[in-house]
Amino acid sequence: MKNWSEIINHEGEDRLLFQHAVAPPIYQTSNFAYADVQSLRAAFADDYTHPLYTRGNNPTVEILRRKLAALEGSEDALVFGSGAAAMANAVIAHVKAGDHVVCVDKPYSWTNKLLTQLLARFGVEHTFVDARSIEDIRAVLRDNTRLLILESPNTMTYELQDLAACAALAKEKGILTIIDNSYCTPYFQKPIELGIDMVVYSGTKYYNGHSDVVVGVLASSKAIIRHIFEREWMTLGAIISPHDAWLVLRGLRTYPLRIQRSSETATALATWLEGHPKVERVLYPGLDSFPQRELARQQMRGASGLFSVYFKSNSIEQMERFCNAIADTFLMAVSWGGYESLMMPACVWHSPNGNTTTLPVNFVRFYAGLEEADYLKAALERGMGEL
Ligand SMILES: *Cc1c(COP(=O)(O)O)cnc(C)c1O
Repeated sequence: MKNWSEIINHEGEDRLLFQHAVAPPIYQTSNFAYADVQSLRAAFADDYTHPLYTRGNNPTVEILRRKLAALEGSEDALVFGSGAAAMANAVIAHVKAGDHVVCVDKPYSWTNKLLTQLLARFGVEHTFVDARSIEDIRAVLRDNTRLLILESPNTMTYELQDLAACAALAKEKGILTIIDNSYCTPYFQKPIELGIDMVVYSGTKYYNGHSDVVVGVLASSKAIIRHIFEREWMTLGAIISPHDAWLVLRGLRTYPLRIQRSSETATALATWLEGHPKVERVLYPGLDSFPQRELARQQMRGASGLFSVYFKSNSIEQMERFCNAIADTFLMAVSWGGYESLMMPACVWHSPNGNTTTLPVNFVRFYAGLEEADYLKAALERGMGEL
């Protein structure tokens, strides 16, 4: 495999074609004109290779596809208008009425809705399973199971699956595997090398990295990517604009630096919080106390910037005061992967009329951004004064 710098600086970019531009051009065009019938005919015959219309193929998006596939170590990749669209395309492309899908039991919320709300209407069945045990997965497989959907770690409580074992089981049974790798990205985990068939990301998070573009990625073999391109990709049209693709290309130039910094800060904060008297428990795949630490060591090169904390409190009011006190430093928002540190407190989903979460009120999911660790620590210390 090429090294990171080579991919980020050169892959997919031909500066001689771009009038020697250092930054790649934005082909802000919907369609491509050909000067003779023969060339137009060739473009029609294979719009996977030739730019014909931007819903299919656009040179700026193509540069991004080449880089993302190379970073992933896959043969090819598609870039979608969101991570949710990437997952939906990967799943829909491989099921029909009467098929069955097995999925980790706490997937990303819109992966859950894809199975329970959308595909259920079209006669596709599903089973959610606690996939920490390979035997539990094996037990729910059926003759009509077509897909195994993994998410390792998930982005709230970080349960892992043994990816090599899952891939081996699926191959034995003729089932395709998909993993949502948004937490790790290839910087920390390479599922293709472990035998997983399709890798899906929200590129909104670390790849773009500036909280200003929603983008999704699907990396896989040439055969699978071409299959999806010719069917779901062109039909559903969940594409990214050339301008947004260019913003992601700009984000990629600093992606290893950013994710490394975010990981180091998360490790520093999680380690410090674990010893703090106001903290009951810290969940972070990078800590020795992490329940699946051995598996994390085995298949991840590190842990990224999300970690979760159970504070010593049973009170909504206290937890609200904690959050409000630090909301200028840890912004209260969904998503992650940008400059700014964030938090998602479970108390948001708690109310006197009932809770819409199984997470306890003292649970907060944090994202460590690119600020100085001491600045973030000071805010947390200030907030914990309210507990
Ligand atoms: C954000 C996210 C998604 C969805 O990605 P979008 O780009 O928001 O559509 C999917 N999976 C995980 C784990 C995520 O964090």
